[in-house]
Amino acid sequence: MDEEQLQEIRNHLLKMREEVLIEAEKAYAASQSLGKDGVPDIGDMSSNSYNQEVLMNLSEAQRSRVHDIDAALERMDKGVYGLCARCEEEIPARRMEVRPFSRYCVDCKSEVEKFGE
Ligand SMILES: [Zn+2]
Repeated sequence: MDEEQLQEIRNHLLKMREEVLIEAEKAYAASQSLGKDGVPDIGDMSSNSYNQEVLMNLSEAQRSRVHDIDAALERMDKGVYGLCARCEEEIPARRMEVRPFSRYCVDCKSEVEKFGE
């Protein structure tokens, strides 16, 4: 995978991450916006978007999505992104574009599914 492809996937991952967090923020706002009398109280929202309270509002699925994204970004930082975690062969860029969280090449993936990590 060349630098450009890597950069493209990285941007894609960051965008996905942002979208999940925006969704969580909306859920948080919705849960906070009803005052005692049931009238929305928008002025109360914190402008700090990335805080623990927002993260607490992530669903299980969203949380695991953020986890996957962070793990992929971490592999990029370590320079091992796109390398199979099992045989260390390079995973085809086309596969990484379709499944940016892949940790295994196609061969190892089926082995892992059959026999476990
Ligand atoms: Zn492999």
